[in-house]
Amino acid sequence: MRSPDFRTREAAYKALFEVYKKNSGVLGEIYQNVVIQWRDEAISMRGYKSPISVRNISNDLDDETVEALLQVCRKNSSVFQDYFKEKAKMLGMKKLRRYDLYAPLSTKASDSKSFTFGKAVSTVLDTFGNFDSEFRSLAERVFSERHVDSEIRKAKRGGAFCYTVSPKITPYVLLNFDGKTRDVSTLAHEFGHAIHSMLASEMPVMVSHAPLPLAETASVFAEMLFNERMAEKMSPKARRLLLAEQIDDMYATIMRQAYFTLFEVDAHKAIGEQNATIDAVAKMYMDNLKEQFGTSVAIGPEFEWEWIYIPHFYHTPFYTYAYSFGNLLVLSLYQQYKREGKSFVPKYLKILSAGGSRKPEDLLIEAGIDISKPEFWQQGFDYVQGMIQQLKSLAPK
Ligand SMILES: [Zn+2]
Repeated sequence: MRSPDFRTREAAYKALFEVYKKNSGVLGEIYQNVVIQWRDEAISMRGYKSPISVRNISNDLDDETVEALLQVCRKNSSVFQDYFKEKAKMLGMKKLRRYDLYAPLSTKASDSKSFTFGKAVSTVLDTFGNFDSEFRSLAERVFSERHVDSEIRKAKRGGAFCYTVSPKITPYVLLNFDGKTRDVSTLAHEFGHAIHSMLASEMPVMVSHAPLPLAETASVFAEMLFNERMAEKMSPKARRLLLAEQIDDMYATIMRQAYFTLFEVDAHKAIGEQNATIDAVAKMYMDNLKEQFGTSVAIGPEFEWEWIYIPHFYHTPFYTYAYSFGNLLVLSLYQQYKREGKSFVPKYLKILSAGGSRKPEDLLIEAGIDISKPEFWQQGFDYVQGMIQQLKSLAPK
């Protein structure tokens, strides 16, 4: 899917969905039963207003907040559509196909190994230090206690994460550091998690963890601090690539995830209230994609089976909007930081220090942020739109 060769990308998607299509009878029936059981328990037995309310309550969010978020995402589908048209140009294509969504934009700039681990650590620490001295010293503690496993070894698990054993113990960070700019950005991300956790360590153990929608408040923010620092030193060409990669990621965390939840809302209604067939659900998913992409992307017919391979739909229904929530929230907080400068820092640290002890609506309103209002979520999209404008302005003449 991320191959530089357009034929390979197409073949990869087709090979994948062919198998899911072949097994759609069994998988679709599993899904129908998940939905029916979820509904029975949520509505008939426990009296929730709607199937999604169950998830909202476990996220400590009001239904109205989530509804505002989803509707604003829906209203802004054209923002990323605009980006996909630009991405087609960058790839030298007339129109993007769904197969090309994650096509790499460069094989050089961002992929080259330009950082030693020492350089990466000092760059991230300096970035944090510029933001706030406590931010830096907390990150330093993780290193000085030797809680970081960064090297790539045979048989070591891939990816990266931060794990907090208990509020009293400095978190552990796992990385697979390979010297790419992206690895440094990941380092900043995971250390954001560690700092968040250390700031909330005074909270009782049961509520020290931030709820899911707030879980990325420090990590994505830390990444943005790093990316901005990198962009300052880059040539226009490299900056254009970095921007495009960031927008790619934002699409995948904001819009794609919101549309997943919008699909689930429809699917739970159709299966739960009208016994919709598996084919009808597949058609519904295709309509969802068409709304999401408009005319900006050509969608192959096999994508009607994409929903059937999304694990969250089976094991944690309505989970994915939390990704959109977290990312848009950070975009807004970041803009607020840009506007207010240093006076923003104590407000932000206070939000992080609360961990999971308070309801997001109540916690954020103290920093002047009203997440129940569509206007708040719109700001995040305005920011993305600004990035796309900048991307276009950096195009070679
Ligand atoms: Zn994270």
